[in-house]
Amino acid sequence: MSATHASPTLAFQVFGCRLNQAEAEGWQSALAAEGYTILSNQSADVLCVHSCAVTEPAVKEVTRFLKRQRHRFPKQAIILSGCAATLVGDLPIDLRIPHDVKATWLPRVRAFLSTHISAPSAGHPTPAAHRTRASLIVQDGCDHFCAYCIVPHLRGKPVSEPAEALLKRAERLFAEGYREIVLTGCHLALYQDPTHGFDFIELLRRLCDVPGEGRFRIGSLEPCILDDAALIRLIASSGERICRFLHYPMQTADDTLLRAMFRRYTQADLRKVLDCVCTELPHCGLSADWIAGLPGETAEAAEATAHFIASYPFTGAHVFPYSKREGTPAATFPNQVPPQEILQRAKRLRDVAHAQQLRQLQLQIGRPLNVIPEQSDGAFRKGWSSERFRCRLPASYPRGQCVTVIPKALEGDTLIIPN
Ligand code: SF4
Repeated sequence: MSATHASPTLAFQVFGCRLNQAEAEGWQSALAAEGYTILSNQSADVLCVHSCAVTEPAVKEVTRFLKRQRHRFPKQAIILSGCAATLVGDLPIDLRIPHDVKATWLPRVRAFLSTHISAPSAGHPTPAAHRTRASLIVQDGCDHFCAYCIVPHLRGKPVSEPAEALLKRAERLFAEGYREIVLTGCHLALYQDPTHGFDFIELLRRLCDVPGEGRFRIGSLEPCILDDAALIRLIASSGERICRFLHYPMQTADDTLLRAMFRRYTQADLRKVLDCVCTELPHCGLSADWIAGLPGETAEAAEATAHFIASYPFTGAHVFPYSKREGTPAATFPNQVPPQEILQRAKRLRDVAHAQQLRQLQLQIGRPLNVIPEQSDGAFRKGWSSERFRCRLPASYPRGQCVTVIPKALEGDTLIIPN
């Protein structure tokens, strides 16, 4: 391990979902507050890797990264947590923290650091400094066991944070200067307050009343589990306290596949949700996850999903080529789609979704948007609208202060705000 720094240095490398990022952000802030120096480059004394194993390529990426890192910095200590730490053996690491002991990540890392590097000099709080957005983890785990998904095997049963603690944390984050709080979880729609038993919609209602300046953004939300219409109406009536943005992991629009994958809705159910979004929340940001080449997907089914995407005003999409996960039922299904075909179908979905995204972004030109400007790179600032449209503003707009602006042009997928 390198001893070139006066005080121990750490760096974080996060793979995978927003929940992973949120977990790592929390640990990073706690260690920084204790006086550890967090570097943004990967040459630190200790590298904390929070990993993903949701697909085979994700596992390969983490494995390749760890080997490369070990080769580049042989004396560096590597701590591995997350899904790959839970699933994959024999990796070049010094400390493994799988999901079942994740709650003790901090004490384990502290103990490791105290025996491997000197204690930090002095504690100092982490200011919101250059960031305007924070994550709030409201729940973890899932017990839906969709046929293709390894997540419930790794993250375990759903567990929700008490609403009271979440309300306090949200208030504190606004007081620290954060202006957008992203509500994050493994399966947000399974949220249930441990004391009173209320659901995610009621949690949102209560969060809306938290004192402080700022807005909430809902992370990925499984469709057709909650009363979607009630949730959409709540967003519409919140005066943008809840961002006008919805991201649904829809995966496919083909009914046969939805059934085979143990999804809990039909294409008609999805249409009902999306029709409600279009009526109650027009011009909102709307994105979805899609999986191309699920076992049993015919060319017609793939095309049906492409048509479905083209028929609603989606403003974004994540398209994943299906990859087999050992231990899931779908991995044993006989009718696997050939890998080359999967890639072609994924490309087709991406092309359709991208064309739809650009059409929707064009429609935003001339419409007022509420944007929170972030750090500047000199003449300009990046910012995100309530609908999660990427915007470019002149640097004269103050960082972290929500402004109403009118885009005048589109460059790539960025809306341009004039002086
Ligand atoms: S709902 Fe399905 S896809 Fe989502 S985490 Fe649970 S098992 Fe995986």
